[in-house]
Amino acid sequence: MSYRRYLNEIWQLLYPQRECPACGAAVSRPGLCPACRHRSQSLHRCALCGTFGESTAAICPECREYRPLFAAAYAALPYEGRLRELLLDFKYNNQTYHRRTLAALLLAAWQDWQPPYRIDAIVPVPSSAARLEERGYEHTQLMAELLAEELGVPLEGGWLFRIKDTPPLHDLPRQQRFAQMRGSMGASPQVRGKRILIVDDIWTTGATALACSSALLEQGAEAPLLLTCAAGATW
Ligand SMILES: [Zn+2]
Ligand SMILES: [Zn+2]
Repeated sequence: MSYRRYLNEIWQLLYPQRECPACGAAVSRPGLCPACRHRSQSLHRCALCGTFGESTAAICPECREYRPLFAAAYAALPYEGRLRELLLDFKYNNQTYHRRTLAALLLAAWQDWQPPYRIDAIVPVPSSAARLEERGYEHTQLMAELLAEELGVPLEGGWLFRIKDTPPLHDLPRQQRFAQMRGSMGASPQVRGKRILIVDDIWTTGATALACSSALLEQGAEAPLLLTCAAGATW
Protein backbone atom coordinates (compact mmCIF):
# COMPACT_ATOMS: atom_id res chain seq x y z
CA MET A 1 0.00 0.00 0.00
CA SER A 2 1.39 3.42 -0.91
CA TYR A 3 2.22 5.85 1.88
CA ARG A 4 -0.53 8.27 0.88
CA ARG A 5 -3.12 5.57 0.64
CA TYR A 6 -2.04 4.24 4.04
CA LEU A 7 -2.37 7.69 5.65
CA ASN A 8 -5.79 8.16 4.06
CA GLU A 9 -6.96 4.82 5.44
CA ILE A 10 -5.69 5.62 8.96
CA TRP A 11 -7.31 9.04 8.87
CA GLN A 12 -10.61 7.43 7.89
CA LEU A 13 -10.42 4.97 10.76
CA LEU A 14 -9.93 7.83 13.20
CA TYR A 15 -12.41 10.20 11.61
CA PRO A 16 -14.83 8.17 9.49
CA GLN A 17 -16.18 10.21 6.63
CA ARG A 18 -19.92 9.96 6.28
CA GLU A 19 -21.04 12.02 3.35
CA CYS A 20 -23.70 11.40 0.76
CA PRO A 21 -21.71 10.57 -2.41
CA ALA A 22 -24.14 12.57 -4.56
CA CYS A 23 -24.67 15.84 -2.66
CA GLY A 24 -22.05 15.79 0.13
CA ALA A 25 -24.62 16.07 2.95
CA ALA A 26 -23.71 14.41 6.25
CA VAL A 27 -25.20 10.91 6.60
CA SER A 28 -25.24 8.54 9.57
CA ARG A 29 -24.16 5.46 7.57
CA PRO A 30 -22.32 5.04 4.26
CA GLY A 31 -24.49 5.63 1.19
CA LEU A 32 -26.91 8.13 -0.27
CA CYS A 33 -28.92 10.61 1.82
CA PRO A 34 -32.71 10.00 1.62
CA ALA A 35 -33.21 12.83 -0.91
CA CYS A 36 -30.54 11.49 -3.31
CA ARG A 37 -31.78 7.91 -2.90
CA HIS A 38 -35.23 9.14 -3.88
CA ARG A 39 -33.77 10.99 -6.85
CA SER A 40 -31.89 7.88 -7.97
CA GLN A 41 -35.10 5.84 -7.75
CA SER A 42 -37.11 8.33 -9.76
CA LEU A 43 -34.71 8.93 -12.68
CA HIS A 44 -35.75 7.51 -16.04
CA ARG A 45 -33.36 4.89 -17.42
CA CYS A 46 -33.11 2.80 -20.57
CA ALA A 47 -34.48 -0.64 -19.60
CA LEU A 48 -31.50 -2.30 -21.30
CA CYS A 49 -28.35 -0.25 -20.75
CA GLY A 50 -29.53 1.72 -17.71
CA THR A 51 -28.37 5.11 -18.99
CA PHE A 52 -30.45 8.17 -18.12
CA GLY A 53 -32.94 9.60 -20.59
CA GLU A 54 -35.04 12.73 -20.93
CA SER A 55 -37.47 10.94 -23.21
CA THR A 56 -40.01 8.51 -21.75
CA ALA A 57 -39.10 5.76 -24.26
CA ALA A 58 -38.36 2.42 -22.57
CA ILE A 59 -35.27 1.74 -24.71
CA CYS A 60 -32.65 4.34 -25.69
CA PRO A 61 -31.82 5.04 -29.36
CA GLU A 62 -28.40 3.39 -28.98
CA CYS A 63 -29.87 0.10 -27.72
CA ARG A 64 -32.53 0.18 -30.41
CA GLU A 65 -29.77 0.42 -33.01
CA TYR A 66 -27.24 -1.96 -31.43
CA ARG A 67 -28.90 -4.57 -29.23
CA PRO A 68 -26.52 -5.05 -26.23
CA LEU A 69 -24.80 -8.39 -25.58
CA PHE A 70 -25.49 -8.17 -21.85
CA ALA A 71 -28.93 -8.91 -20.37
CA ALA A 72 -29.35 -5.52 -18.70
CA ALA A 73 -27.36 -2.76 -17.01
CA TYR A 74 -28.11 -0.18 -14.33
CA ALA A 75 -26.35 2.91 -13.00
CA ALA A 76 -27.01 4.52 -9.61
CA LEU A 77 -26.74 8.17 -10.71
CA PRO A 78 -25.49 10.46 -13.48
CA TYR A 79 -21.74 11.08 -13.57
CA GLU A 80 -21.74 14.65 -12.26
CA GLY A 81 -21.21 16.89 -9.23
CA ARG A 82 -19.88 15.43 -5.98
CA LEU A 83 -20.18 11.84 -7.23
CA ARG A 84 -17.88 12.61 -10.15
CA GLU A 85 -15.25 14.15 -7.83
CA LEU A 86 -15.50 11.27 -5.43
CA LEU A 87 -15.08 8.67 -8.19
CA LEU A 88 -12.03 10.50 -9.52
CA ASP A 89 -10.48 10.63 -6.03
CA PHE A 90 -11.27 6.96 -5.52
CA LYS A 91 -9.69 5.97 -8.80
CA TYR A 92 -6.73 8.30 -9.11
CA ASN A 93 -5.96 9.92 -5.72
CA ASN A 94 -5.47 6.97 -3.35
CA GLN A 95 -8.78 7.66 -1.59
CA THR A 96 -9.61 3.98 -1.40
CA TYR A 97 -11.68 4.49 1.77
CA HIS A 98 -14.50 5.69 -0.50
CA ARG A 99 -15.07 2.00 -1.26
CA ARG A 100 -17.55 1.72 1.64
CA THR A 101 -19.62 4.64 0.40
CA LEU A 102 -19.52 3.39 -3.19
CA ALA A 103 -20.36 -0.20 -2.24
CA ALA A 104 -23.38 1.15 -0.30
CA LEU A 105 -24.36 3.15 -3.39
CA LEU A 106 -24.13 -0.01 -5.53
CA LEU A 107 -26.10 -2.05 -3.01
CA ALA A 108 -28.95 0.49 -2.93
CA ALA A 109 -28.96 0.59 -6.74
CA TRP A 110 -29.08 -3.20 -6.90
CA GLN A 111 -32.06 -3.26 -4.52
CA ASP A 112 -33.89 -0.55 -6.48
CA TRP A 113 -33.15 -2.20 -9.81
CA GLN A 114 -34.67 -5.61 -9.09
CA PRO A 115 -32.83 -7.22 -12.01
CA PRO A 116 -34.36 -10.08 -13.99
CA TYR A 117 -32.51 -12.98 -12.32
CA ARG A 118 -30.38 -14.06 -9.39
CA ILE A 119 -26.62 -14.10 -9.89
CA ASP A 120 -23.93 -16.72 -9.28
CA ALA A 121 -20.94 -14.39 -8.98
CA ILE A 122 -19.76 -10.80 -9.05
CA VAL A 123 -16.88 -9.90 -11.36
CA PRO A 124 -15.19 -6.47 -11.29
CA VAL A 125 -14.04 -4.88 -14.55
CA PRO A 126 -10.25 -5.33 -14.61
CA SER A 127 -7.89 -2.42 -15.22
CA SER A 128 -5.10 -2.68 -17.75
CA ALA A 129 -1.75 -3.80 -16.31
CA ALA A 130 -0.22 -0.37 -16.89
CA ARG A 131 -3.07 1.46 -15.11
CA LEU A 132 -3.01 -1.02 -12.25
CA GLU A 133 0.71 -0.58 -11.73
CA GLU A 134 0.41 3.21 -11.83
CA ARG A 135 -2.46 3.24 -9.33
CA GLY A 136 -1.33 0.38 -7.07
CA TYR A 137 -4.84 -0.93 -6.41
CA GLU A 138 -7.79 -2.34 -8.36
CA HIS A 139 -10.49 0.18 -7.51
CA THR A 140 -13.36 -1.85 -9.00
CA GLN A 141 -12.36 -4.89 -6.96
CA LEU A 142 -12.38 -2.85 -3.73
CA MET A 143 -16.03 -1.84 -4.25
CA ALA A 144 -17.12 -5.18 -5.69
CA GLU A 145 -15.78 -7.24 -2.78
CA LEU A 146 -17.88 -5.29 -0.27
CA LEU A 147 -20.95 -5.61 -2.49
CA ALA A 148 -20.33 -9.38 -2.83
CA GLU A 149 -20.15 -9.68 0.96
CA GLU A 150 -23.45 -7.83 1.35
CA LEU A 151 -25.20 -9.95 -1.28
CA GLY A 152 -23.65 -13.22 -0.08
CA VAL A 153 -22.36 -14.00 -3.56
CA PRO A 154 -18.78 -14.99 -4.42
CA LEU A 155 -16.45 -12.37 -5.87
CA GLU A 156 -14.49 -13.81 -8.79
CA GLY A 157 -11.73 -11.32 -9.51
CA GLY A 158 -9.94 -13.57 -12.00
CA TRP A 159 -12.86 -14.47 -14.25
CA LEU A 160 -12.36 -11.41 -16.46
CA PHE A 161 -8.90 -10.23 -17.44
CA ARG A 162 -7.25 -7.87 -19.90
CA ILE A 163 -5.59 -9.51 -22.85
CA LYS A 164 -4.61 -6.22 -24.48
CA ASP A 165 -3.60 -2.98 -22.82
CA THR A 166 -5.63 0.01 -23.95
CA PRO A 167 -4.55 3.64 -23.66
CA PRO A 168 -6.64 5.89 -21.38
CA LEU A 169 -10.00 6.09 -23.12
CA HIS A 170 -11.59 9.14 -21.54
CA ASP A 171 -10.47 11.58 -24.23
CA LEU A 172 -11.28 9.38 -27.20
CA PRO A 173 -14.35 9.83 -29.38
CA ARG A 174 -16.96 7.11 -29.23
CA GLN A 175 -16.00 5.07 -32.29
CA GLN A 176 -12.35 4.97 -31.24
CA ARG A 177 -13.24 3.79 -27.75
CA PHE A 178 -15.12 0.85 -29.25
CA ALA A 179 -12.22 0.10 -31.60
CA GLN A 180 -9.70 0.21 -28.73
CA MET A 181 -11.76 -2.01 -26.45
CA ARG A 182 -12.58 -4.64 -29.09
CA GLY A 183 -10.90 -7.91 -28.10
CA SER A 184 -9.27 -6.32 -25.05
CA MET A 185 -10.86 -8.70 -22.50
CA GLY A 186 -10.66 -12.41 -21.91
CA ALA A 187 -12.69 -14.65 -19.59
CA SER A 188 -11.94 -17.81 -17.64
CA PRO A 189 -13.60 -21.10 -18.76
CA GLN A 190 -15.04 -21.23 -15.22
CA VAL A 191 -17.72 -18.75 -16.29
CA ARG A 192 -19.53 -21.41 -18.36
CA GLY A 193 -23.24 -21.46 -17.54
CA LYS A 194 -22.84 -18.78 -14.88
CA ARG A 195 -24.97 -15.72 -14.33
CA ILE A 196 -22.57 -12.91 -13.65
CA LEU A 197 -22.93 -9.38 -12.37
CA ILE A 198 -20.15 -7.19 -13.77
CA VAL A 199 -19.30 -4.21 -11.55
CA ASP A 200 -17.65 -1.02 -12.78
CA ASP A 201 -17.32 2.56 -11.57
CA ILE A 202 -18.63 4.45 -14.62
CA TRP A 203 -20.59 3.69 -17.75
CA THR A 204 -19.18 5.98 -20.42
CA THR A 205 -20.09 4.70 -23.88
CA GLY A 206 -20.73 1.02 -23.32
CA ALA A 207 -17.44 0.02 -24.99
CA THR A 208 -16.19 -1.68 -21.80
CA ALA A 209 -19.53 -3.41 -21.25
CA LEU A 210 -19.39 -4.75 -24.80
CA ALA A 211 -15.81 -6.05 -24.41
CA CYS A 212 -16.58 -7.74 -21.06
CA SER A 213 -19.87 -9.23 -22.25
CA SER A 214 -18.42 -10.67 -25.43
CA ALA A 215 -15.51 -12.27 -23.50
CA LEU A 216 -17.94 -13.87 -21.02
CA LEU A 217 -20.35 -15.08 -23.71
CA GLU A 218 -17.49 -16.56 -25.71
CA GLN A 219 -16.65 -18.76 -22.72
CA GLY A 220 -20.26 -19.87 -22.34
CA ALA A 221 -21.54 -17.56 -19.58
CA GLU A 222 -25.17 -16.48 -19.60
CA ALA A 223 -25.76 -12.90 -20.82
CA PRO A 224 -24.37 -10.87 -17.88
CA LEU A 225 -25.82 -8.04 -15.83
CA LEU A 226 -23.85 -4.86 -15.29
CA LEU A 227 -24.00 -2.42 -12.39
CA THR A 228 -22.15 0.90 -12.16
CA CYS A 229 -21.99 3.79 -9.69
CA ALA A 230 -22.56 6.36 -12.42
CA ALA A 231 -23.39 6.74 -16.09
CA GLY A 232 -22.01 9.56 -18.22
CA ALA A 233 -24.10 8.99 -21.32
CA THR A 234 -27.58 10.52 -21.52
CA TRP A 235 -30.22 10.48 -24.28
ZN1 LIG B 1 -27.48 13.42 -1.00
ZN1 LIG C 1 -29.92 1.76 -23.75
